[in-house]
Amino acid sequence: MIAYLEHFVHGNDTESTPNDDVSSLQGSFHFSPISIATKDFGGMKSSTPLAVIRPYSTSDVARAVKAATTTTNLTVAPRGNGHSINGQAMAEKGLVLDMRATAEEHFQLLYHDGVPYVDVSGGALWEEVLKRCVSQFQLVPRSWTDYLGLTVGGTLSNAGVSGQTFRYGPQTANVTELEVVTGKGDTLVCNENENSELFFATLGGLGQFGIITRARIVLQQAPDMVRWIRVIYSEFEDFTKDAEWLVTLPEGDGFDYVEGFVVANNDDSCNGWPTVPMGSNQVFDPVLVPSSAGPVLYCLELALHYRKTARSSDVNKKVDRLLGGLRFVEGIKFEDDVKYMDFLLRVKSVEEDAKAKGIWDAPHPWLNMFVSKSDIADFDREVFKKILKHGVGGPILVYPLLRSK
Ligand SMILES: Cc1cc2nc3c(=O)[nH]c(=O)nc-3n(C[C@H](O)[C@H](O)[C@H](O)COP(=O)(O)OP(=O)(O)OC[C@H]3O[C@@H](n4cnc5c(N)ncnc54)[C@H](O)[C@@H]3O)c2cc1C
Repeated sequence: MIAYLEHFVHGNDTESTPNDDVSSLQGSFHFSPISIATKDFGGMKSSTPLAVIRPYSTSDVARAVKAATTTTNLTVAPRGNGHSINGQAMAEKGLVLDMRATAEEHFQLLYHDGVPYVDVSGGALWEEVLKRCVSQFQLVPRSWTDYLGLTVGGTLSNAGVSGQTFRYGPQTANVTELEVVTGKGDTLVCNENENSELFFATLGGLGQFGIITRARIVLQQAPDMVRWIRVIYSEFEDFTKDAEWLVTLPEGDGFDYVEGFVVANNDDSCNGWPTVPMGSNQVFDPVLVPSSAGPVLYCLELALHYRKTARSSDVNKKVDRLLGGLRFVEGIKFEDDVKYMDFLLRVKSVEEDAKAKGIWDAPHPWLNMFVSKSDIADFDREVFKKILKHGVGGPILVYPLLRSK
């Protein structure tokens, strides 16, 4: 293996990657092909590391970081599932740690003051966490991302924002403890009280303050089913007022998930009306769109959790009461009852479809922004209605969050 690395080094710029960097890696490291870490989901940056190491445990991670600290040049980047968009998980001529190899190391349920938590590995996918928590404990994390093919360490190094954030905060607000390997290769446990600076720096820290090897995540009872709803607005003001009202409702009184997106007001299959229905049995009827509508429409996406023992009349009553107060375009409403797990995994079918069409690997120049309430109407006028009126060839999500979360 070392011979292979030396060959690689000599084939490149030996000045910036001297041989002593390589010899410090001697030992029992496991390696992956370099190619897995040269690209990411964004597809806009590429970078060639010296080596990709597969650590199977926290001590492997610590050993790799320690080895790098003894060298003059090696940088280290943890890589989750590589779904960043700007090369954040890359290390040019450095070491990439393929954290997926650690996925199995931790998985333990514990209770503190009657509240359930699960300890999971930084390299576990959220999809794996969901499936194991449901099947083993009938419990689940409270805050998610839209797509679950992302690692725990990868989203906790960003934020992890989705339609539950208005209620529980981002995923980073639902973690009470981390085990972190620091830049010196030390393994530390951190939380609000112990090594708190490290804890808060690592959450949202893009891997720059330490490598998350274990995270303790708050759990709640797993719902069985979800009433999944999409309604359409022609007026941005109505859309934002309704969405902002919904996120102020207390737990139990409102929806459990509030998101939304912008669609072009036309029949474009990628940006327009056809992107709104949730199933092939649903059809968007454009005749119902008011003639006063502008170049874009707004879709409010909602979900209500329920137990399979709930009476459907009670679920209907609650949904009707909540929807009754909203100002969406009459008649343009899509509803479906789906299993909770299928709802959380809803983007998986989008992924499979995009892979089948060969577009999953296309570049994804994505942008995430927090826009204040006082600027959102201007943003709509200038950005959605003018610059993006034909769409972006993919989703344009827009939904309210509470600053307090
Ligand atoms: C289809 C899709 C949908 C998405 N939806 C959402 C969404 O709804 N909400 C949302 O908030 N985000 C969303 N994202 C963005 C996603 O949260 C980030 O891209 C996230 O970083 C991806 O996780 P990853 O495991 O692929 O991390 P990577 O891209 O591998 O890494 C991300 C960053 O974290 C660092 N890192 C990775 N693992 C660790 C670790 N164990 N310890 C410390 N640092 C680490 C890396 O060095 C890098 O800086 C989505 C992405 C995709 C592709």
